[in-house]
Amino acid sequence: MSQKYKAYDIHCGKCDKYILSYHKYGSGKGILRLYLKNIIAPIEWSNIQATSIKEVKSLQCMSCLEVLGNPIISKGKKWAYRMRRGYFHRKLQKK
Ligand SMILES: [Zn+2]
Repeated sequence: MSQKYKAYDIHCGKCDKYILSYHKYGSGKGILRLYLKNIIAPIEWSNIQATSIKEVKSLQCMSCLEVLGNPIISKGKKWAYRMRRGYFHRKLQKK
């Protein structure tokens, strides 16, 4: 069975620094919510040690400190970042 996701690299919309890699499932075009469990790299974003969503930091560019997303709990009780439109770029990874 093949995995039905697209792999994206997320970059800062302000300084273009690489932030993280993400597996996006489903057919929706945009990335409105970025589910924490689908972040695959790097370790500081893919392996968040928290027991409550309140302990999760905003998704932030380490270079220019722009905040790209804020932690939320989605409808399905999944942890996610609500992404700030226009504050990030996504680049489809070449297979
Ligand atoms: Zn930046």
